[in-house]
Amino acid sequence: MKIKDENIYFTGDGAGKAGNIVTAAATGIVASRNILENYK
Ligand SMILES: Cc1cc2nc3c(=O)[nH]c(=O)nc-3n(C[C@H](O)[C@H](O)[C@H](O)COP(=O)(O)OP(=O)(O)OC[C@H]3O[C@@H](n4cnc5c(N)ncnc54)[C@H](O)[C@@H]3O)c2cc1C
Repeated sequence: MKIKDENIYFTGDGAGKAGNIVTAAATGIVASRNILENYK
């Protein structure tokens, strides 16, 4: 998740659909890929 028009992402346990470390890490990957796509 990301704030519209702001470079603030929500990742990890609180932003994930399930409370586990795999989901927390996966949301970090999704945000990282989005950042790389938008700022390359
Ligand atoms: C008892 C227990 C057992 C678990 N067992 C498993 C398991 O077997 N397998 C599994 O997949 N998941 C397990 N989990 C869930 C897993 O630990 C979490 O989903 C995962 O650690 C979440 O990662 P995160 O990075 O989102 O949050 P966290 O690991 O909570 O990291 C958040 C970080 O932010 C820091 N922080 C907080 N507020 C601030 C602030 N204001 N400023 C700066 N830093 C701040 C904290 O100090 C912390 O380092 C378990 C959880 C618990 C509680």
